[in-house]
Amino acid sequence: MSATKPTTKPTQPPKRGKAKGLRPKHVPQRTCVACRTTDAKRGLIRLVRTGEGAVEVDPTGKRAGRGAYLCARVGCWTRGINERTLVRALRLEGLTEDNRAALLKYADERVPEDEDE
Ligand SMILES: [Zn+2]
Repeated sequence: MSATKPTTKPTQPPKRGKAKGLRPKHVPQRTCVACRTTDAKRGLIRLVRTGEGAVEVDPTGKRAGRGAYLCARVGCWTRGINERTLVRALRLEGLTEDNRAALLKYADERVPEDEDE
């Protein structure tokens, strides 16, 4: 290895650093009500409190109403539902048996099993 070869850089126009990440855009942080993980990108699933005081899954994340998030993991769903963190997050008294069953069914059918991490 001898001397480093002189690299001639092509002249670059000075870039105005508008795309620099120094001022982060406001990204809504979502917190899983069961495990308290905040995650904007990994796909938390939104649940929404309906006018009747029930809880429904809101896959689009766009429904109006008080919402809460759960990770896309069965463990968080069963925990959130059974340990009442979900109803507390939604300021509900509790879930009806039907509602609880529907949510657990959704978790069972649509939410992936926990992965090993
Ligand atoms: Zn979670």
